[in-house]
Amino acid sequence: MRVYNFSAGPAVLPEEVLKEAAEDMLNYKGCGMSVMEMSHRSKMFDDIIKTAEKDIRELMNIPDNYKVLFLQGGASQQFAAVPMNLMKNKKAAYIITGQWAKKAFAEAKLYGEAVEVASSADKTFSYIPDCSDLAIPEDADYVYICENNTIYGTKYHTLPNTKGHILVSDVSSCFLSEPIDVTKYGVVYGGVQKNVGPAGLVISIIREDLITDDVLPGTPTMLKWKTQADNDSLYNTPNCWSIYICGLVFKWLKNMGGLSVMKERNEKKAKILYDFLDQSKLFKGTVRPEDRSMMNVPFVTGNEDLDKKFVAESKAAGFENLKGHRTVGGMRASIYNAMPIEGVEKLVEFMADFEKKNG
Ligand SMILES: *Cc1c(COP(=O)(O)O)cnc(C)c1O
Repeated sequence: MRVYNFSAGPAVLPEEVLKEAAEDMLNYKGCGMSVMEMSHRSKMFDDIIKTAEKDIRELMNIPDNYKVLFLQGGASQQFAAVPMNLMKNKKAAYIITGQWAKKAFAEAKLYGEAVEVASSADKTFSYIPDCSDLAIPEDADYVYICENNTIYGTKYHTLPNTKGHILVSDVSSCFLSEPIDVTKYGVVYGGVQKNVGPAGLVISIIREDLITDDVLPGTPTMLKWKTQADNDSLYNTPNCWSIYICGLVFKWLKNMGGLSVMKERNEKKAKILYDFLDQSKLFKGTVRPEDRSMMNVPFVTGNEDLDKKFVAESKAAGFENLKGHRTVGGMRASIYNAMPIEGVEKLVEFMADFEKKNG
């Protein structure tokens, strides 16, 4: 039996996709081998990666002047690739809303002057700072955000006013959860293991004019976006398996009705959980309501022993990975695209029952 998996990442994948992959496992479309065994230069794989690109372009309505790159090293590798490719003036503005933004900020400091222009560290990252009028240095090469904060459960519902600077956004944990306007960004990228596919692949969507030979001296060939763009993400052997599964997930999303439908569905799921938290006398959400994420929902009882008891009992009842991030404690339910509504309904029933017995 499959459990309800609330992991923050690697995370739940659509059951239909896993079944299709299982069917294809030994003999992909009659070619006599699996996707893991075929040449990345074969016609078969060329179809897989081209179709995946076409489908994500359609899903996200990505304009023609943006490249879609399928890269390795996860989102963390882009923490370095971003300054290496974009820091012409060796200066960038960072908004610090959690661990992932902090890590990207620390990485950027290795390559130039990274300036913190806003932060929500004062209240353990439980909100998104006001970004309507930030002191962004004139000569900053870009403004950097982590759009959905996986660990703290906050999300930008309004993008920062970058005052004409390029916006770079890490969308790892909200990737494909709702429609976005790609034209508002210079770079949008995400590790796929949160909301899209298997770990080890990061998809970077980059405006073409930002992909140049003018990178920081010493930038590794592999980290230069131009290398990857010129070679259609096949400069070296890519993560073929993850690209294939992501392709199946893109088809699944299209069959579901696309990102507007996913947004409605995700809003509905999140509302079930937040409505419960807002009326509960035992559990409470930790995020300022207007900054809540639809994907990652942290909550606490206010009593560490009770939190532990909840995590243990929920696991025994078939709800996996509800323990909060090791740096914040409490609980966190990640309710990505592939989490069925029923999973959230059952979780809320379980929480109500726990509250009755322990309230
Ligand atoms: C998980 C996560 C990362 C790190 O992803 P890796 O692929 O493991 O490097 C970066 N940013 C955000 C927002 C994440 O949730």
